[in-house]
Amino acid sequence: MQTTLTDSAEEAANILNAGGVVAFPTETVYGLGAGICHPEAIKELFRAKGRPVDNPLIVHIHCIEQIADVAGDINKDASALIERFFPGPLTLVLKKNPCVPDTVTAGLDTVGVRCPANPVAHEFLAHCTCPVAAPSANLSGLPSATSWETVYEDLDGKIDCLLRGKPSSIGLESTIVDCSGAIPVLLRAGAITLEQLLAVIPKISVDTPKDDQEPPRSPGLKYPHYAPRASIVLCHANEKISAQHSSAYIGLSEPPAGFALLKICRNLEEYGRELFSFFRRCDSEGIDLIYCELPSNTGIGRAIRDRLLRASGRH
Ligand code: AMP
Ligand code: MG
Repeated sequence: MQTTLTDSAEEAANILNAGGVVAFPTETVYGLGAGICHPEAIKELFRAKGRPVDNPLIVHIHCIEQIADVAGDINKDASALIERFFPGPLTLVLKKNPCVPDTVTAGLDTVGVRCPANPVAHEFLAHCTCPVAAPSANLSGLPSATSWETVYEDLDGKIDCLLRGKPSSIGLESTIVDCSGAIPVLLRAGAITLEQLLAVIPKISVDTPKDDQEPPRSPGLKYPHYAPRASIVLCHANEKISAQHSSAYIGLSEPPAGFALLKICRNLEEYGRELFSFFRRCDSEGIDLIYCELPSNTGIGRAIRDRLLRASGRH
């Protein structure tokens, strides 16, 4: 398959509207989209990524009014979160409308809905004639793609179109909150922090993965994720570590000398933005071990910890 590379949101949307699979930029990570009214394209999307079919997709919309096309039963907490955080890096799990196919939601009676704030994503989605189901635009299991070049590396020849944009400004996948029950549940940490959510809604429970949880609240979270080829070693600030042959370091505090690749981030935002591209760079430069500093569990640190723990196979 020939992958069309374009900078035109309208051209990319036309390809999607004709039943194509299209990668596009968002502020979190790049997404790989198919129209929810194109069942063959949805199947093709799962094939291109190598994604297990029981891992549901998030449905992307271009304006708040479009939520009514895909979801219903929007309670008070969901309304407050929509008003405060849409458009932005927040996905809400809501009761689905019958028009959303089971292939998108993996048979669940709920649907994840997000309205990206990135202007190119917005323009693209506004030209799409139906809502767009989109997981992250990377081969399943690998670190998410935060630049068009990374999408190209993973998916050239496997998808119909790649809409080029800037590198993702956040670099971590959206915060996911399940608002389909009486008390909202934080299913995945992201750039919208627990503290920010609690400033808008009175109560939220935090989903902690358990091995015996049947069925999981968020099916996709049981799969290995975000892992580079190199092994990950988690470390704490001020812990005594030493560079080894072909080892790299990413974190906030300065490590000892001797790492072949090094990224010291000025703050948590930069750490989140750089994490996945650093993993990719380590793999392309033949690094075997990546030392990653575990930040504290507050603010966006919660999301970075989550990705680091998953990437290292800890949960
Ligand atoms: P990705 O698009 O690769 O970031 O993955 C999307 C994540 O959203 C997966 O971990 C899914 O399990 C989760 N998700 C999507 N739809 C739902 C839903 N209806 N209920 C619970 N989790 C969902
Ligand atoms: Mg993903």
